[in-house]
Amino acid sequence: MVKRGILIGRFQPPHKGHVEVVKQILREVDELIVGIGSAQESHTLENPFTAGERMLMLSRALVEAGVDLSKVHIIPIPDVNNHAIWVAHVVSLSPPFSVVYSGNPLVQRLFKEAGFEVRTLPMFKRRIYWGAEIRNRMIKGRRWEDLVPKAVLEVMQEIKAVERLKDLSRTDYPLR
Ligand code: NAD
Repeated sequence: MVKRGILIGRFQPPHKGHVEVVKQILREVDELIVGIGSAQESHTLENPFTAGERMLMLSRALVEAGVDLSKVHIIPIPDVNNHAIWVAHVVSLSPPFSVVYSGNPLVQRLFKEAGFEVRTLPMFKRRIYWGAEIRNRMIKGRRWEDLVPKAVLEVMQEIKAVERLKDLSRTDYPLR
């Protein structure tokens, strides 16, 4: 029997902490499903990148890190407006899995209540390997490039990610 785990995240953007987590999980299971959460979202400050862009960044980063992609299944998972049915929604979209990996308390709670084995992730430099921190640094013009894998940086440059984030942070209201 193949032991399959799932890791769900927004990956806005994928960073070095995510790559470490994937490598760690693959020591415990045969295959890993990576769910790109909030797949319907893009072009907002919280969720600037499309599901396709995030999938591209993540798969390139995993290849760069030497991860065997035949063991990783990356799938998009749009949100549903009802937490109580979210786990059933995830199951309906995903290849079968028996163990859930997450550091997100809401994700952990929902899967536990649905009867899944939930394993907590060790955190890797969470204060800097953190999507909100990286997006913030990109907008403010501070150094962010070393917080993401080189492969992610290359996709970010291709899609002009800094320009997009700076545009999203602007307003046409007069400043007070
Ligand atoms: P995220 O990208 O912030 O994190 C993904 C995973 O990586 C998390 O488990 C997180 O704990 C872990 N992680 C992040 N940084 C790390 C680091 N430095 N070291 C180690 N681990 C690290 O994504 P998230 O916010 O947890 O994503 C949850 C997704 O589930 C969202 O898209 C959310 O909308 C979705 N969701 C949807 C519903 C619904 O639709 N009703 C309900 C619950 C969750």
